[in-house]
Amino acid sequence: LFIDHPLAEGQAIALTPDQAHYLASVMRQGPGAEILVFNGRDGEWLARIGRIAKRSGELLAVSRTAPQLDPPDLWLIFAPIKKARTDFIVEKAAEMGAARVLPVQTEHTNSERIRQDRLQAHAVEAAEQCGGTFVPEVGELTPLSRLLGGWEPARRILWADEALAGPAATLRGLPGGPWAILIGPEGGWSESERRRLSAMECVTRVSLGPRILRADTAAVASLALWQAELGD
Ligand code: SAM
Repeated sequence: LFIDHPLAEGQAIALTPDQAHYLASVMRQGPGAEILVFNGRDGEWLARIGRIAKRSGELLAVSRTAPQLDPPDLWLIFAPIKKARTDFIVEKAAEMGAARVLPVQTEHTNSERIRQDRLQAHAVEAAEQCGGTFVPEVGELTPLSRLLGGWEPARRILWADEALAGPAATLRGLPGGPWAILIGPEGGWSESERRRLSAMECVTRVSLGPRILRADTAAVASLALWQAELGD
């Protein structure tokens, strides 16, 4: 269970109404029951239910059961697509160990709004499901031009460009350190975006293979490619 609260031995943790409902009514847990909790910073903890009612309750942190495991410093930047498939991208990024997920508005992005809180909740749920201790931060929808305008070049960009289609890139030999993967929208990249990205020294343009992948597939494929070669 994800708890937005510092975790330390003997720490009392107030449950939110939703958490209390989940533990009491869905999981049918009562006082004394033990559950595993994490907050994204302090590893995984064993906690005991002290008091529980339908919409409130309290846990007591007992002991740490696993250390904090942070992912490598990898961001996933993507242009939002249809709602369910955007949810999928965030969920898979959390599972595959992205440290940050940044939705961007590109010239061919159809979706002009996202529910950041909803996407963040998906990231939490994905971390809970796969037993992770880290939850990636989901950013606000930002225009790509603004993001690139303030880009810190020490973070390299792995730019998936469908126009390169050919054998999938191998990332062997690329420098380590912080990276960001950049995936375009269903409509692909515009020529001016291609010119701008091509002019940036910190950008490596890659093919993900000879077939054009859907944006959600491209996100997962590029995360796997990066993790296989540059991840830990
Ligand atoms: N509308 C574009 C077209 O027909 O050429 C396709 C865009 S694709 C569905 C969405 C994004 O996934 C692309 O902008 C790119 O970032 C990535 N992508 C998909 N297939 C790729 C490939 N074979 N190589 C590199 N990137 C790819």
